[in-house]
Amino acid sequence: MNLDEITVLYTAEEIQEKVCEMGRAISFDYEGESLLVVGILKGAFIFMADLVRQIKLPLQLDFIDVSSYGNSTVSSGEVRIMKDLEYSIKGKNVLIVEDIVDSGLTLYYITEILKKRSPQSVRIACLLDKPSRRKSPAYPDYVGFTIPDEFIVGYGLDYDEKYREYPDICILKPSVYEK
Ligand code: 5GP
Ligand code: MG
Ligand code: MG
Repeated sequence: MNLDEITVLYTAEEIQEKVCEMGRAISFDYEGESLLVVGILKGAFIFMADLVRQIKLPLQLDFIDVSSYGNSTVSSGEVRIMKDLEYSIKGKNVLIVEDIVDSGLTLYYITEILKKRSPQSVRIACLLDKPSRRKSPAYPDYVGFTIPDEFIVGYGLDYDEKYREYPDICILKPSVYEK
């Protein structure tokens, strides 16, 4: 781990505490029902793995992959489905799991697509929310941490496919991507 490039924002312990809290809230809200948890690849994979183990409900999992950022740190505004869901969501309670909501374009787009497939309900759980940069109406129902406008890596989030495996949520120093 190159400590010159990152600053820890939330430690692995703080993240676990938050994820447990989110799991409890979700389990409470959907009591007596089952859930289809849809993870947005790849950034949400670690958060999703931890979150589903804290949700005490019958679950199914599926994944969707969309492109939005490429290797840059600024949203292109262009969102395309790279890998669609494997299963039908008709009549199901869908919980979209996302790593971070920034402009909101990705989530807005995915939510609109999924709503057309006649699910019973669609809600969003995101680990991190950067509301100051919102450009489209994306409203997460469950939010881990609300954060300032910094570029985040670790706990699943990458810069140029690096840092995903870091256990903490970290701020990437601008000197790394501005050079
Ligand atoms: P949005 O469409 O909301 O602008 O961006 C959503 C996607 O952009 C996120 O799912 C994430 O993959 C990426 N993204 C946005 N902000 C950050 C950030 O601070 N760090 C990283 N690694 N990815 C980000
Ligand atoms: Mg993402
Ligand atoms: Mg990325």
